[in-house]
Amino acid sequence: MSSTPPATPSMRTGAIVKNQFDIAADLIELPEYMRTLLKAPFRTVTVEVPVRMDDDRIEVYRGYRIQHNGARGPTKGGIRFHPHADEHEVLGLATTMTWKTALVDLPFGGAKGGVQVDPRKLSKREYEAVTRSFTSRISIILGPYRDIPAPDMGTNAQVMAWILDEFSKRAGYTPAVVTGKPISLGGSLGREEATAQGVVYCMETFARDYDPPLAGSKVVIQGFGNVGGHLARILHEKGAKVVAVTDVDGGLHNENGLDIPPLFQHAYVERKPVSEFAGGDAIANEALWHIPCDWLIPAALGGVINKEVDLQRLDCKVVVEAANSPTTPIADKVLEERGIPVLPDFLVNAGGVIVSYFEWVQNLQQHPWSLDHVNRELHAKITRAYDTVRTLVEERGVSWRTAALAIALQRVAEAEQLRGH
Ligand code: NAD
Repeated sequence: MSSTPPATPSMRTGAIVKNQFDIAADLIELPEYMRTLLKAPFRTVTVEVPVRMDDDRIEVYRGYRIQHNGARGPTKGGIRFHPHADEHEVLGLATTMTWKTALVDLPFGGAKGGVQVDPRKLSKREYEAVTRSFTSRISIILGPYRDIPAPDMGTNAQVMAWILDEFSKRAGYTPAVVTGKPISLGGSLGREEATAQGVVYCMETFARDYDPPLAGSKVVIQGFGNVGGHLARILHEKGAKVVAVTDVDGGLHNENGLDIPPLFQHAYVERKPVSEFAGGDAIANEALWHIPCDWLIPAALGGVINKEVDLQRLDCKVVVEAANSPTTPIADKVLEERGIPVLPDFLVNAGGVIVSYFEWVQNLQQHPWSLDHVNRELHAKITRAYDTVRTLVEERGVSWRTAALAIALQRVAEAEQLRGH
């Protein structure tokens, strides 16, 4: 979920996804026809979304729902409300969802949706009207066994509740058509912090296998929203030292570790800028990348670790991609040459979609799980995926990203083949 939609360069997101595809496809010698099949989306739906505004004007927004691949199951992926959510961006994100669901072995394919609207400029009534109008236009391709949306930038649990209501008007009560819902409408315990929790499980497992141990290690985080905020909170609870964080308005640095519980209350709960919190030195956003640390965690925007950052001066042991596509291919190469492992987004930030899957299962069975049960299953799923990737990294001497993508590609290609392609 997001309250501050950042300006993500959509073409760049698409380009990042494609370049990585070819490197992994070469590793598993994927046949040419399969590359063509897996690169192209299964279905792209473009809709015009008419909405009556508070001043009685009719505004028409452009919306997309792209189902990239459904060979392994119904397609799954968030809906983003952002002025820059164009077809390239939505396709790049839908494609990543295919690899993410395959890598963590969920019975889902990948999809994504977007409406080109700035939710901050809408009244609550207009926000609901955009959601209902978009849902009604795409509802023909949605369904618990077809395509299941979830929140993304600019949307949240309330938006999911409106989608559930709008879809259910036609199909009857259908909670499993959407995930990330409020708990009282069939949402899952643990969903809000699931992405951050999954990142931490991956870090703990990495720390088990390699240096540095989590407790006492130094962490730097870009972003203090759903992912970055909960990440800081959980890592602090595990004994790590969060030495610097930023949000859209600037950041804060304290060599001895920031006092995270009151900062979480200030910046996450009360939605105040991180830089207005006492207990650290104010820093500019760009200064974050060069602060010495063990774990460098982008948890805000795509494409931020790029050639404009002085990559030779990054002073970390591991990059953990909590955000989607934060590292450009050029930066990825430099980090590989420097021997800094990059734990890729579609492995480490898969906790959200994993718990979305649990929510879908709970809805279909009409049987809610305890928080303990959710976290146990999350831990099992994400660490199993981590172990599979680590084995390939060690066997083939490739990067974590290449190994993860190769595993995902292999699984989707196998499903396509078994279905007759
Ligand atoms: P969010 O909107 O809740 O938080 C984003 C944070 O980034 C905010 O603190 C914002 O101030 C900050 N930010 C924006 N621009 C910045 C800048 N220039 N410099 C520093 N900070 C900046 O979003 P979120 O849900 O936490 O998502 C963050 C990232 O994680 C996105 O890339 C998203 O696609 C990815 N992701 C989220 C989930 C999830 O479950 N929320 C799941 C998988 C991946």
